Amino acid sequence: MLRLIRYILIIPFTISTFLMLSQNVNQANETIQTLCSDEFAGRGYVDSGDWVAAKYIAKRFKSLSLKSFKSDYKQPFDLSVNNITSTKLIIDNELLKPGFDYLVAPNSPSLFGDYQAFYVSRKMLYSNRVVKKVCKAIRRGYVPVISIFDQKDKTLKKTIDEIKKLSKEEPVIFLKDKLTWRVSTFQSKGAEIWMLDSIFNRFSKDVHIDITATFVSSYESNNVIGYVEGYQNPDSFIILCGHYDHLGKMGDAIFYGANDNASGIAMLLDLASYFSEHPQKFSVAFIAFGGEELGLLGSLNYVKKPLIPLTKTRFVFNMDLMGDGSKGATIVNGKIYKPYFDQLIDINAKEGYLPSIRSRGKAANSDHYFFSEAGVPSFFMYLMGDYEFYHIPQDNANNLKLGYYYSKSFSLIKDFIIRLN
Ligand SMILES: [Zn+2]
Repeated sequence: MLRLIRYILIIPFTISTFLMLSQNVNQANETIQTLCSDEFAGRGYVDSGDWVAAKYIAKRFKSLSLKSFKSDYKQPFDLSVNNITSTKLIIDNELLKPGFDYLVAPNSPSLFGDYQAFYVSRKMLYSNRVVKKVCKAIRRGYVPVISIFDQKDKTLKKTIDEIKKLSKEEPVIFLKDKLTWRVSTFQSKGAEIWMLDSIFNRFSKDVHIDITATFVSSYESNNVIGYVEGYQNPDSFIILCGHYDHLGKMGDAIFYGANDNASGIAMLLDLASYFSEHPQKFSVAFIAFGGEELGLLGSLNYVKKPLIPLTKTRFVFNMDLMGDGSKGATIVNGKIYKPYFDQLIDINAKEGYLPSIRSRGKAANSDHYFFSEAGVPSFFMYLMGDYEFYHIPQDNANNLKLGYYYSKSFSLIKDFIIRLN
């Protein structure tokens, strides 16, 4: 009976909330499904996933009738990247799963070989003869497997650097308690493998490694830019932005980047849809940046060659990691541009959108950075919650389901932009 009453109370609330949220959230979830499908190849540089994504975003801009500075919304820029196109790691006849059991360090070169494992325990790492011992083992055809160590320990860090230097073109395996990948703009001499400590057997013997890495010194990627013209001050712009690129592929492992940052692009497209129907006094531009994961390259190139003069850019609002806001949001640069931050807090307090909004100082951690360095007021907003997948294949559309706080964040950003009028 109690259960029944509970259902009776819950159902109307659930239905009304669902109807209120459904349109915007369903569409955003679909956008994330698309951006994280296999043919987008993790929106990186293997299989030109970045081009597939840029084309899709440009198509969405067009369907919203956004204006374009160039005919196809694209702003090309050049980058270099080390692509890990295939990888195989077999230990004692067991084929390990790339992306889940291990990662190839993003700057690794190609490598093919059979080795014997040489486990370097934490205790051994502290001995002053470790570098000598490891180098001797490498010369005899072993691959050192270095136990987890405290990255903050400066003496150990020095020892590890020395081992890396002396291993030259020979591989080294590092055990980790957690895996997180990234992409690299260069290729190093020696290959490195990062393996999950929990699956490594200390008595392992035979190690077979087969990595194919291709360094691409010049590759064209794109920013995608559209805008809605203002009805009173069309020359004055507010920029809403987020990066669409992610890590792409490492062999067969796809890093889908649902939260990072398909969620931000879904939000960008939702806001573009809203402002295309509700033009403001000033113009509103929408930029999906490329190359962020390689070191903010898309936004750096944009700030060097802006399509809108920086002096005519009144504010930049960057969105990255918009998937889970159950614990609120953080605003990077909130402490630098205090009056703007106070406006945001004021809106949130009146409307009760998010449980909390924290402010931070400046940080070079997303695409707002080069704008604020160039003197353009800018915020970077990211949401916080229980979603824990970061730079691993599990950050995918099945694991990320947008909900209540996505809609609330949408309303908060929309209200804030309108207030900038
Ligand atoms: Zn990101």
